[in-house]
Amino acid sequence: MKLSKTQFRKDFEQSLTSEFATDVAKAGITETFAALSSVVKQYYTQIWQGDNQYKDRSQKKQTYYFSIEFLPGKMLKSNLLNLGILSTVREGLQELGIDLEKVAQVEPDMAIGNGGLGRLASCFMDSAASTGLPVNGNGIRYRYGLFKQKIIDGYQVELPDSWLNNVNPWEVRRADKAIEVTFGGETWLEETEDGRLIPRYRNQERVLAVPYDTAMVGFENTRVNNMCLWRSEVPQDLDVKFQNMEYMRQTSMLSAELYPDDSNYDGRLLRLKQEYFFVSAGLQRIIRHYKSNKIAPIAQIADYIAVHINDTHPALCVPEFMRLLLDENGLSWEQAWDITVKVMSYTNHTILSEALEKWPEEMVHTLLPRIYQIINEIDKRRTDELLPHVGAELIHKTRIVKDGQIHMANLAIIGSHSTNGVAKLHSDILKDVELHDFYQLYPERFNNKTNGIADRRWLQISNARLSKLLDEKIGKSWRHDLVKLEALKDFREDTETLKQLAAVKLENKKDLAALIKEKNGIEVNPEAIFDVQIKRLHAYKRQLLNVLHILKLYFDIKDQPDLEMVPRVFIFGAKAAPGYHYAKAIIKVINEIAVMINEDAVVKDRLKLVFMENYNVSLAEAIIPAADVGEQISLASKEASGTSNMKFMLNGALTMATLDGANIEIKEACGDENIFIFGLTKDEVYEYYKNGNYNARDIYEQNPVVHRILNAFIDGTIPNITNEGPEIFESLTAFNDEYFLLRDFNDYVRAQKDLENLYRDQRAWAQASLMNIATSGIFSSDRTIRQYAKDIWFIEEKSEEV
Ligand SMILES: *Cc1c(COP(=O)(O)O)cnc(C)c1O
Repeated sequence: MKLSKTQFRKDFEQSLTSEFATDVAKAGITETFAALSSVVKQYYTQIWQGDNQYKDRSQKKQTYYFSIEFLPGKMLKSNLLNLGILSTVREGLQELGIDLEKVAQVEPDMAIGNGGLGRLASCFMDSAASTGLPVNGNGIRYRYGLFKQKIIDGYQVELPDSWLNNVNPWEVRRADKAIEVTFGGETWLEETEDGRLIPRYRNQERVLAVPYDTAMVGFENTRVNNMCLWRSEVPQDLDVKFQNMEYMRQTSMLSAELYPDDSNYDGRLLRLKQEYFFVSAGLQRIIRHYKSNKIAPIAQIADYIAVHINDTHPALCVPEFMRLLLDENGLSWEQAWDITVKVMSYTNHTILSEALEKWPEEMVHTLLPRIYQIINEIDKRRTDELLPHVGAELIHKTRIVKDGQIHMANLAIIGSHSTNGVAKLHSDILKDVELHDFYQLYPERFNNKTNGIADRRWLQISNARLSKLLDEKIGKSWRHDLVKLEALKDFREDTETLKQLAAVKLENKKDLAALIKEKNGIEVNPEAIFDVQIKRLHAYKRQLLNVLHILKLYFDIKDQPDLEMVPRVFIFGAKAAPGYHYAKAIIKVINEIAVMINEDAVVKDRLKLVFMENYNVSLAEAIIPAADVGEQISLASKEASGTSNMKFMLNGALTMATLDGANIEIKEACGDENIFIFGLTKDEVYEYYKNGNYNARDIYEQNPVVHRILNAFIDGTIPNITNEGPEIFESLTAFNDEYFLLRDFNDYVRAQKDLENLYRDQRAWAQASLMNIATSGIFSSDRTIRQYAKDIWFIEEKSEEV
């Protein structure tokens, strides 16, 4: 949009006066943020309305992306950038003596997601709008986002994140678009006069779902999509017999809390209820809009909408859509099924078996009686249909209902026309191993869509220095098409550019050093290698392997106090699921090792260890631009894709990587010489599984370096870990080291040595950094979302020529 500084200042000052009865001189920082966001919202509202009208008028097919998590982070600067008014507003505020950075800080992180899954959903929201694709989000408006992490005495302590306390300026409550969702009760089928069976219900629990819409503003275009988040409320006309506190409490619980575990299955009823809640409300709204807009008969709905099931949490989309078509729109089973499969598509995000959702039949039966009937009918009809053609065993292995459980991934695959993995390796594992049975039955459904990241947030906003340098060197076209970064390759031998790149990195490191000083009270040397591992704490991600290497460096120094080494600062950020005992033990151990190393006078500034608390999107934005190295060291086959690996690459960090997830594609893009690869391959890991011949204790017994490091956990070397130390020691020895840390240790140390050696040659390092930036274009989520649009959803980009 077009906006002059004068106009902006006028609008802003007016907002302060009319909405907050104050002025620039008197306004506090919260009021300033509120007034500013209110102005920004006014700016995009017109475009939003215009695009909604355009969508209704043009009746082009739209996608609805169902995800139980979103992780947008702060929205102010993102909205300013996408509206094309970031610098106008920055300068306008400056003239009023206001620092935009300080104001932006005030906004709470919208953290209604756990980690990669939710962040991907939000990168997709940004990319869909920015590429002009009509893709809308559908999720839950959790009152409490992911917990705030405090570190006290080295332990993680979880505090509630009540992010809505100071109201959310971006959302629009749409009370008159509320929808009713029902649970429980009894249901039975009655025959109508024309011989159809229709369900009857009694004693159902009714919940009102109220939508809150948030604009997803496209980058310098006229597309504004919608992220719809549902809040649960008690219906106005609730029968008196239900009007009690327990009912109220139960109802509000549905949108109260994000389930803070992104990896493990947990059988809580509430979680299943949440899943049905946002699925049912979302699908009802879509169908209601479709009908009120008189687009076409319901039987043609598959030509106008696509519904995406992001991981299995929204897999109830399949039976719920069937229910709506059958019971509420009178379609035949065959018709409804055909439409449902065409409309639905599904992304698998993990192969960790403990994360594959299964619900006890009994629970689904009680909570969702009609849905339970439909799931069984889907399962039965499929079995009958396949029996003449394929073996009974294959059918059994792929059944939705078996062993007393409903298998959600099976439901999602069977009820949709597309199942995709999120990196090449992951998609191959799905086809060849994890979902091989399904692949035999439905080979055409399987495909890969390698994840991506929204470079507007992860470069343009978070790394202004690098963005400016890129503009100077290769022009601004990369801001619209990230692949244009390739042009940077021409500067690989250009000494001045290499120096400027290094200077940008150093400045970013100084900023991070200041933040570390402020938050942790630790002094770090900006000339040291900043070696970063930030992601959820999980055993398979192997933060502990990183820790073992740090201990090795520490003992090297202790053994040889004069040892010459490139100084290193190891930086961690990670939340552990509150019930994940082992992960929390690792956090404690990291913090105790940090104290031990940072306070050891012998170490000087050769080694520093920093655990930054409360890892979230905003902290990631502060850390990644300053990273020299990104640690992506999961056991091969375990990390479906990873996306922080892409963020690091884009910001010129070199990757320390196993051949896992998207690391493989990063290596192919940047070249073997610009990445550090170590460890077992996926096939070697599977070979160990097949033969059952891994013996961690042997390595502990035979490798003196490993021996000494592990002993440090139990012999008092590391202080204050009397409970955690032995737990970790046992996991690596007695319990045979589930994720092969000890097996990969030596090669990891070797790769780390290679890394150090390269860093000594600052020119070569800068060249490798440059090559990472230059080849990161394919990891834009603009590319990813376009592939979904073309191959899975069959939707079109809005043309901007009007
Ligand atoms: C990108 C991101 C993730 C995903 O990180 P991985 O290393 O890919 O697991 C998790 N949390 C936040 C806040 C992120 O920004």
